[in-house]
Amino acid sequence: MKRKGLLIVLSGPSGVGKGTVRKEIFSQKNTAFEYSISMTTRSPREGEVDGVDYFFKSKEDFEELIKQDQFIEYAEYVGNYYGTPLQYVKDTLEEGKDVFLEIEVQGARQVRDKFPEGLFIFLAPPNLTELQSRIVGRGTETDDSVRNRMNEARKELAMMNLYDYVVVNDQIDLAVDKINAIVKAEHCRRTRV
Ligand code: 5GP
Repeated sequence: MKRKGLLIVLSGPSGVGKGTVRKEIFSQKNTAFEYSISMTTRSPREGEVDGVDYFFKSKEDFEELIKQDQFIEYAEYVGNYYGTPLQYVKDTLEEGKDVFLEIEVQGARQVRDKFPEGLFIFLAPPNLTELQSRIVGRGTETDDSVRNRMNEARKELAMMNLYDYVVVNDQIDLAVDKINAIVKAEHCRRTRV
């Protein structure tokens, strides 16, 4: 029987560097994971491309997709919806490929309920001060948005214990190495011949 792919969930507070770590993983030539592109109702940031960074949707369209049960998970985060399309993930896992999600923690919790066999990795900041300076340093957020994201981050850090692994992101290349090593080890842990 063909082996099903592994569902890899990378989560953690906004500003911790999930996006950067994910982009670094996918820029490596030998990456064997498939990235699941999320849907969102937030507006594109400069340079973001529809169908590459996100599928950008109107609130009405997103709510229609919720009604049709087309998400594995979705969450409202700082005033916008974000969600993971179900069909793509199911089909890709069935094909035996590993699927990589980069999502916030409310969503990761929903994924855990539906795919308990998934691999859940929490990317943690070295500390909260560092996290705030990363969010401010990004230069894309208003003061209100920074405050909201920091409030979320405090709640999100409390969820760390629900994950299989915690990776502290004090250096991007080291965090990427650790994530790749965790995935390799998980494959060995699950292999039966
Ligand atoms: P941003 O607006 O900075 O792109 O993303 C805000 C937060 O939403 C980040 O923590 C990001 O990881 C998360 N996110 C992106 N896509 C999804 C998704 O499909 N579902 C959930 N629950 N969160 C997502």
